[in-house]
Amino acid sequence: MIIQLEKDITDIQRATLEAKLQSISYKTTEVNTQFADYIVGVGKKEFDIREIGTMPGIHDIHRVSDAYKLVSQKWKVEDTQVDLGDGISIGTGEFAIMAGPCSIESEAQIESTIDHLVKNNVRIMRGGVYKPRSSPYSFRGLGIDGLKLWYEKARTAGIKIITEVMMTEQIDAMFDYVDIFQVGARNSQNFNLLDALGKVDKPVMLKRGISGTIDELLQSAEYIFSNGNERVMLCERGIRTYENSYRNCMDLNAIAMLKEKTHLPVIADPSHGIGVRRFVERIALASIMAGADGVIFEVHECPEKAFSDGQQTLDYGQSGALFNKLRKTFEFRKSIRS
Ligand code: PEP
Ligand code: MN
Repeated sequence: MIIQLEKDITDIQRATLEAKLQSISYKTTEVNTQFADYIVGVGKKEFDIREIGTMPGIHDIHRVSDAYKLVSQKWKVEDTQVDLGDGISIGTGEFAIMAGPCSIESEAQIESTIDHLVKNNVRIMRGGVYKPRSSPYSFRGLGIDGLKLWYEKARTAGIKIITEVMMTEQIDAMFDYVDIFQVGARNSQNFNLLDALGKVDKPVMLKRGISGTIDELLQSAEYIFSNGNERVMLCERGIRTYENSYRNCMDLNAIAMLKEKTHLPVIADPSHGIGVRRFVERIALASIMAGADGVIFEVHECPEKAFSDGQQTLDYGQSGALFNKLRKTFEFRKSIRS
């Protein structure tokens, strides 16, 4: 059960509500986000929700029986739009495109990527400065200095930054230089990190765990939301199955299902989703038809020389073509769905 409180609820109205919730033995958690105040109640007793819904000080009430609640469509039917400022937002309306290298490598690479994005009217750049790598001997990112350099160049060009945060301790130092905090697949159930990202007022893109279920992804998103941050989006990036012909199995089913289960924007990552450059385009386009609100993919001036994930990275020619096809496919989807 989710009860949204009126902003001006009085102490007496609150006390009356608490007494009512106690009388039906519901366990309650208060959630205060940047946008609203809620009481999330968990309990079994059957009662007529109108008894609470009509109480003074209550904005509305919904019964949500799933393990995740605030991110559920059962509570909020309209899609959520995550606003990045400067006229850029994700979810509903326009299709979101985020592109950039797997890793931020150098000043020249940052400049070249920004130039490519600006030419193609793409406003959000991806790139890792803290890289989770399977091997400790691989390139692990330029760290905070790389982020600051990137930020300076991106801001001048009007480009927003999405980058991965790996540890709670990195959040404060990164905060001023990031537009979207990315939670990587390996941290999808790092509940301390999710709690901490719930306490900052900055959009978060949460990736699905390598072997995470849809339900687990939604419960991880609930951690962020219930700690106070409503600006959350989800990312399908492929899961591990018994199939080993490609890097991961892009779960298009999950995109379709997530769009029914949650009001949060759903982003597709076809680069990690399949992990093979020549298939990235068709998986990206298929993700749109499955219902994605946006696509994030890897691009590099010279993929063969990329410090990481070159095998799944597009060059500028392929990337430019994909931007056009993404936009056309999104228009096509809108034209065939009312
Ligand atoms: C990435 O997007 O840079 C990344 C490391 O992806 P994932 O966490 O999905 O493996
Ligand atoms: Mn990568």
